[in-house]
Amino acid sequence: MTSHAEDEYFAREDAEKKRQLAIAHAKEIASAEKDRLKALHHMRCPKCGMPLHHLSYHSIEVERCFACHCVVLDDHDLDDLVGHEGYWDNILRFFALKDYSEKNE
Ligand SMILES: [Zn+2]
Repeated sequence: MTSHAEDEYFAREDAEKKRQLAIAHAKEIASAEKDRLKALHHMRCPKCGMPLHHLSYHSIEVERCFACHCVVLDDHDLDDLVGHEGYWDNILRFFALKDYSEKNE
């Protein structure tokens, strides 16, 4: 016959094993969902879902959507702009170029 202390020990051990399995399962699902979303949205415009196009200007690289004119800058691209006085205006002018072909037709 087991003592009350032994019962509690085994119950806690069982609960801890189940908790660890639940955490591992939750991480597995989150990772699979993360991979699914990445495959679905990679190089797609975050606003309209159309393909993004890679453009570069000097050392700055952006992804540009020609459907809705969205521009995507990575964190390191923003860091590159810090401390370059006047550079931001040139970047904006370059990447603000719009496709006017629809209006010209
Ligand atoms: Zn777009």
